[in-house]
Amino acid sequence: SKKVAILTSGGDAPGMNACIRAIVLVCERSGFDVLGYLHGYNGLLKQQYRELDARQMHNLTQRGGTILHSARCLEFKTDESARLAAANLDELGVTTLFVIGGDGSFRGAQHLGNFWDGQIIGLPGTIDNDIVGTDATIGYFTAIETAVQSVDKVRDTADAFERVFLVEVMGRHAGFLGLNGALASASDYVILPELFENEEKTLKDILTQLNERRDQRGNVSYIIILAENLWPGGIADLVSKLEQRTETEVRPVILGHVQRGGSPVSQDRLLAMKLGAHAATLIGKPITGIMVGEQNGQAVEVPLPLTWEHSKPLDDLSVNTMTLLMNNRYA
Ligand code: ADP
Repeated sequence: SKKVAILTSGGDAPGMNACIRAIVLVCERSGFDVLGYLHGYNGLLKQQYRELDARQMHNLTQRGGTILHSARCLEFKTDESARLAAANLDELGVTTLFVIGGDGSFRGAQHLGNFWDGQIIGLPGTIDNDIVGTDATIGYFTAIETAVQSVDKVRDTADAFERVFLVEVMGRHAGFLGLNGALASASDYVILPELFENEEKTLKDILTQLNERRDQRGNVSYIIILAENLWPGGIADLVSKLEQRTETEVRPVILGHVQRGGSPVSQDRLLAMKLGAHAATLIGKPITGIMVGEQNGQAVEVPLPLTWEHSKPLDDLSVNTMTLLMNNRYA
């Protein structure tokens, strides 16, 4: 019978387990054997894997992280590594490999495809939502939820002290998490890579908006969301510049890796199941080197290079809502 393998790679994301489960359940119905490589591409190089069957998928959907563990594997960029991985897959008789991960993991999958004849199918698992070809990625919705819950708590203390809080959210080089986290938490201002022009412009804008707000509503709390990897001097630099100009205490909060954790929200579970189940129906078909994504409620198959060649734009509706409801003027 056919043998397929799954690995999770790069930054882990809530919902990866639900995706693994969906693939395994569909495979079991079709009579295919499934194995899971451990620690991303590392397991593929070291032949570290475990067999996966439907019984082990019990109680898994709601669990965050990934039972296969994720990891980076820098050496996978070399040709020798890809050749070794291909030989390892052939040795076990694997004919289809599923890679659940972000754009780095997809580059790895494409690289492997240069040396391996088997079928390679990617599934978008990242909290950053920075993958072209799918409306959302597995883990993104849970990360928004986590960021929003954290900002809600920050607001309680910010209100008590009438302070300015600067909250850094993840997103790598994309502003999806920042923008939608800022909107849903009713934050006052958001600094995003897609809209950022320069430090001076942003500082001036924040100052204008903050003063306007204080004139209108008195000395209230003010929450600014900052996307990670964006401010040239880092969050501490922005804090000190804001403190100088506003003559107010500015408190930094870095949400960090909590945004990767937690039980996946329903939207991420559903996306993971839909994409995983659809991907498993492609086993043995003459299609390879693709990512399965979701666009307008339909499953789509997108050639891997198209997922990273361009950066994914923020959606107009979110940006328009930001300009209507938040303080930002610079957009
Ligand atoms: P993500 O998949 O979340 O974007 P990374 O960018 O860290 O995470 O990539 C995950 C892993 O994918 C890397 O550690 C490496 O093993 C593999 N990878 C990334 N880029 C390449 C590449 N150009 N060639 C081969 N493997 C790659």
